Amino acid sequence: MNVAIVRIVAELRSIVAAWHREGLKIAVVPTMGALHEGHLSLVSAALAKADRVIVTLFVNPKQFNNAEDLAAYPRTEQEDAAKLASVGAHILYAPDAADMYPQGFATKVSVSGPSDGLCGAFRPGHFDGVATVVTKLFLQTGADLAFFGEKDFQQLHVVRRLVRDLDIPIEIIGNPTVRESDGLAMSSRNTRLSSAERRTAPKLPEILFKTARRLTSGELVERTLREARQAILAAGFSKVEYLELRADDDLVSIATLNRPARLLVAAWLGQTRLIDNVEVRSPQRLDQILKQAAA
Ligand code: AMP
Repeated sequence: MNVAIVRIVAELRSIVAAWHREGLKIAVVPTMGALHEGHLSLVSAALAKADRVIVTLFVNPKQFNNAEDLAAYPRTEQEDAAKLASVGAHILYAPDAADMYPQGFATKVSVSGPSDGLCGAFRPGHFDGVATVVTKLFLQTGADLAFFGEKDFQQLHVVRRLVRDLDIPIEIIGNPTVRESDGLAMSSRNTRLSSAERRTAPKLPEILFKTARRLTSGELVERTLREARQAILAAGFSKVEYLELRADDDLVSIATLNRPARLLVAAWLGQTRLIDNVEVRSPQRLDQILKQAAA
């Protein structure tokens, strides 16, 4: 079956209203297109929990802080629609930028707290752009559930806070990062890597996972992170924007591993910026998990 492509919000609203009248549960999966298995895993998770799934495709100019990055962003709507049809999504909502942000558009949604630091520090305005478009997409689709990837872990936190603070009646569900067989997190930007860079790229998750294991085994946070930064540069990356340990549940910085945590990284490989993150459990928590598994 084909996926229905909808561009006009009034049309979308009338379809959704009819679904809601039938008592159907509706999920939305916001994307910027150039769909890969990571996106499709969100669609599958959405199909498992909802009766109807809307995938949005909008390359949101407001969340790009770099005009070249926006111009170079891959646009593959036809292939995206075919992939969505093959997994069984119901609607591809792909509005025009001029409809999303008409002349005179003057509103900005800005979420402090989880936007601070990490990508927020290096991409000024990025999370305001994300929060603004996600708010619009939630209001336009009227969905009951929304699916986001842990690949963009800070974004997931920003969206959760936004929904909580503004009382938007939608449940946010995070899904694990889907990786290539060599460990590289899938990303629409990976297509920009040269073949030499593509061979270097999996070093990033390799170092990230190794560092998480060292932290879990009780090694000192500051020294371990310093050595990991050096290892990323030695592997051929040109710059490490950040490599930080943050609390898993509220993203605050932590200096010792005394609660479930995330190790998050952003690094440049040539002209391409890669981000990734991994869960880090405290040794006590790991003991607990092992004991539960043995019981
Ligand atoms: P994007 O099109 O990059 O804006 O991503 C759309 C959604 O897909 C976001 O919620 C991302 O976190 C998610 N996503 C992107 N890459 C992956 C991945 N490798 N695994 C899981 N989710 C992903």
